[in-house]
Amino acid sequence: MSGSEATPPSTSGPQELAVLALTRESERARRMLAAGEWRPDAADTDAAARVLARLTAPLPTRRAGSARARAVDRDRRLQRIWRSAVHHLDAGAVSAPAAALLAAVARALLPWFAVPNPPSAAAAPHYPLPRGTGEGFPAAPTEAGEALLPDMTDLFAALSAPHPPGTVPRTPAAAPWQTRYAGRFRHYGRPAHDVWTADTFRCSGCGNADGPWSVTCDWRRVTLGCPCGQETDRHGLSFSEVFLVLPDA
Ligand SMILES: [Zn+2]
Repeated sequence: MSGSEATPPSTSGPQELAVLALTRESERARRMLAAGEWRPDAADTDAAARVLARLTAPLPTRRAGSARARAVDRDRRLQRIWRSAVHHLDAGAVSAPAAALLAAVARALLPWFAVPNPPSAAAAPHYPLPRGTGEGFPAAPTEAGEALLPDMTDLFAALSAPHPPGTVPRTPAAAPWQTRYAGRFRHYGRPAHDVWTADTFRCSGCGNADGPWSVTCDWRRVTLGCPCGQETDRHGLSFSEVFLVLPDA
């Protein structure tokens, strides 16, 4: 991760990572861990250990002169972290505060959902990327992503650390949140290998697909409220399908 070796120049304009939620949730998690308010249970420590393994995965050894391959390695490591965070977020096994943290990690690393390996089918999940990224899938801001890794590594190491003998797991409540979103939510299915389906969520009352939705989430469930008054948590959307299209806040 030293900055001295040659790397290909970024081909797109400056891209900022969406780190507001990550900064907030990381600070909150650290504070709760330090105070003993959060002693992660088995599901949380297991998920944290798996993300930690991605965070600390060494880059493959390359011969000098393969700067291109090296750049792909670096983005692939970030993509694997992103995928692991989304997987454990959407699997539904972790606690609410762990879900909040995983969602924030996924949002911060969102440019890597398609880098270096883009979705393999047109209907595979797509997420809005920061503005100014041009056509197609842009080069991801690799250095900015890697700069997040040391703090994330420390935090996920703390989350996955064994508890002192005699202590029992303890899970604090997550901070529920509410927002409004004018836009579409897409639900992605994968009925078979390399076969993806995508459906737009519509209000069962009026058929509206564009909102503006009133989104309420406590990291156990997400409730979507339509302007017509219909409200539902039976929308079939995963956490990532809701959270990753919302603006960072
Ligand atoms: Zn409606």
